[in-house]
Amino acid sequence: MPPFDVPEGDPFGPHNLPYGVFSLPGSSHRTVGVRLGDHVLDAGAAAHALGSPYASLLARPTLNPLLAAGRTAWSDVRRALTAWVTVPSHRETVEPLFHPLSAVTLHLPFEVADYVDFYASENHARNVGRIFRPDADDSLTPNWKHLPIGYHGRSGTVVVSGTDVVRPSGQRKAPTDAAPVFGPSVRLDIEAEVGFVVGVPSRMGEPVALADFPEHVFGLCLLNDWSARDIQAWEYVPLGPFLGKSFATSVSAWITPLDALEESRVAPPARTHELLPYLDDGDEEPGGYDLRISVAVNGHVVSEPPFSTMYWTAAQQLAHMTVNGASLRTGDLYGSGTVSGPADRERGSLLELTWNGRDPLELPDGKRTFLEDGDVVTLSAWAPGPDGVPVGLGEVTGRVVPGAA
Ligand code: CA
Repeated sequence: MPPFDVPEGDPFGPHNLPYGVFSLPGSSHRTVGVRLGDHVLDAGAAAHALGSPYASLLARPTLNPLLAAGRTAWSDVRRALTAWVTVPSHRETVEPLFHPLSAVTLHLPFEVADYVDFYASENHARNVGRIFRPDADDSLTPNWKHLPIGYHGRSGTVVVSGTDVVRPSGQRKAPTDAAPVFGPSVRLDIEAEVGFVVGVPSRMGEPVALADFPEHVFGLCLLNDWSARDIQAWEYVPLGPFLGKSFATSVSAWITPLDALEESRVAPPARTHELLPYLDDGDEEPGGYDLRISVAVNGHVVSEPPFSTMYWTAAQQLAHMTVNGASLRTGDLYGSGTVSGPADRERGSLLELTWNGRDPLELPDGKRTFLEDGDVVTLSAWAPGPDGVPVGLGEVTGRVVPGAA
């Protein structure tokens, strides 16, 4: 079907227009693409053909120049793109610049600067607390309702959807082991998350206020924070996650601009604790997003985590990570933390879905506690959009492959 005739109601219709980076077969030339239905538009070529001033932002091998250009440019480019793919008089010029998705290679769409991962789902934090600290009075740590907990991860191992994930090796020590052993992780897991992509940098020493979130953050994407639970369990006290997480983090090939998600904004859950002024969002625009996520293992949906249940918003996370004066860079990526809803089948990790292996999942191809070699995990999502048409988020998928012997 020609790209201009994308069916009404398609979640990747002209109301969406996520950005990625692609190349054509036999070519190493990477350039910015915009998805429409099951096609990708060579956005730089379209800008050039139509005499648009945005060719300098779009005919580039990464999204970083566009990310750095700021909110006014983001809105202007989006308005121009919408016209290019919908106004009939552009059809003859623009239509030859589309390529079927099946004919292109998609790349990591932006150069990742710093990577931070948060822990913003109350349901997830409580589940983890109950699993690992069953005797504690409160399943939440004392700081949890006062600040968005996070840690710095490894940006160099953020990979695009479709990249194989090699099972990591490392140290582990079960309580019954006399000494630590080394070998491939036997408790490899996923974490279904949403990643936020920073465009406009900030100056060192100048915190970013809650209200300035839309000036700095360009868009979001699905993110899988692969996690080796056995490595993590042995290493994480007292400095937190390290090698159990840093071997790979997968992101979608498509970054959805925040401008496409206006209709999906929702208020976060009611706050149960008074917040310090820099985190108090009581008078702000709704900071949550109503994203309906699906987690599939080998094509079988095992969970549907609702992002609207996240306690801490992306704006609060941005304010918190800069409140000490730490600066932002173009291409910074921060993960929301595992998204888990209140129901059993809304949990965003196998750790929770199987209650640390106690209750295996029944899949068509057998039982699962943690991931086996060859397993393919796919996260997908949609959000309410204009006129009831959903906004699709680009999927993030990855196959587990065995490590070197
Ligand atoms: Ca995580």
